[in-house]
Amino acid sequence: MIATVQDRSLAEYTTFGIAARAERLVRVASVRDVIDVLARVGTEPLHILGGGSNVLCTHDVRGMVMKIEIMGRRVVREDADHVDVEFGAGESWHDVVSWTVENGWGGLENLALIPGTVGAILQSRAHPQRRWLHLTR
Ligand SMILES: Cc1cc2nc3c(=O)[nH]c(=O)nc-3n(C[C@H](O)[C@H](O)[C@H](O)COP(=O)(O)OP(=O)(O)OC[C@H]3O[C@@H](n4cnc5c(N)ncnc54)[C@H](O)[C@@H]3O)c2cc1C
Repeated sequence: MIATVQDRSLAEYTTFGIAARAERLVRVASVRDVIDVLARVGTEPLHILGGGSNVLCTHDVRGMVMKIEIMGRRVVREDADHVDVEFGAGESWHDVVSWTVENGWGGLENLALIPGTVGAILQSRAHPQRRWLHLTR
């Protein structure tokens, strides 16, 4: 079972570095971990944290903070015109955009330098390109 830490400072997990404390913190590295946490959390408040670049903690956080650290990059499908790639939600968004550029795959390059993780970006409605992005895990 994945370990939960009680009363943990969030300073190192947010870019503002504010030392608000999470009542409980769990770091998940796989989909199985996420399922495990969801099965245990019950009615406790659950907060999802990616790279912490868009979160400003103004007070301690009640309940469980689930820090997403699911890594992974893989080509799902490729043909002459398209390539479908899949990333773990905890991957750095800018790093995976750079990776697609290094591989010669066009389409995401205008979204370079946005801070944060893949999973959080997929929640954003800011980009018209979002239609190309699908949340699969
Ligand atoms: C300097 C700067 C420039 C930016 N430029 C842009 C820009 O050009 N375009 C743009 O759209 N945004 C921009 N942003 C906003 C920011 O990059 C996005 O909000 C990004 O998605 C934050 O990623 P994060 O991993 O740090 O998320 P966090 O700050 O950790 O979380 C942000 C929100 O997403 C939720 N979340 C995090 N991970 C997940 C997940 N895996 N599944 C579900 N929900 C999740 C959190 O619960 C929280 O509500 C900018 C931010 C900064 C600080």
